[in-house]
Amino acid sequence: MLFSPLRKKIYHGILLNAPRDGDVRCQECGGVCCRSFAAVEISWEEYKRLQGLGARRLHLSIYGPHRLEIDYGCEFLAEGRCSIYEERPDICRRFFCTDA
Ligand code: SF4
Ligand code: SF4
Repeated sequence: MLFSPLRKKIYHGILLNAPRDGDVRCQECGGVCCRSFAAVEISWEEYKRLQGLGARRLHLSIYGPHRLEIDYGCEFLAEGRCSIYEERPDICRRFFCTDA
């Protein structure tokens, strides 16, 4: 499990093998998945990239994957859209809900 659902409404989904950009469902749903999970696991490269973009809720881990803490409302979600869409983490690019 790469997202960490802990509470509230959960959107189930799958991780695609390749990024899926610009899906019409995502353009219309308001970013429910960006408000449905506790965190997104990220690589070190993504950690540094998000840090450069001003992320304030990064968690650096010695033992496990680093994380962008979403806490059921990602800091990069703006008016229902990802404000760093072109720079979003790989998991965000490959996640697709199965119950929207
Ligand atoms: S993956 Fe599903 S919940 Fe996430 S933005 Fe797209 S349609 Fe919405
Ligand atoms: S980085 Fe963008 S796509 Fe990923 S959870 Fe945050 S708002 Fe959603």
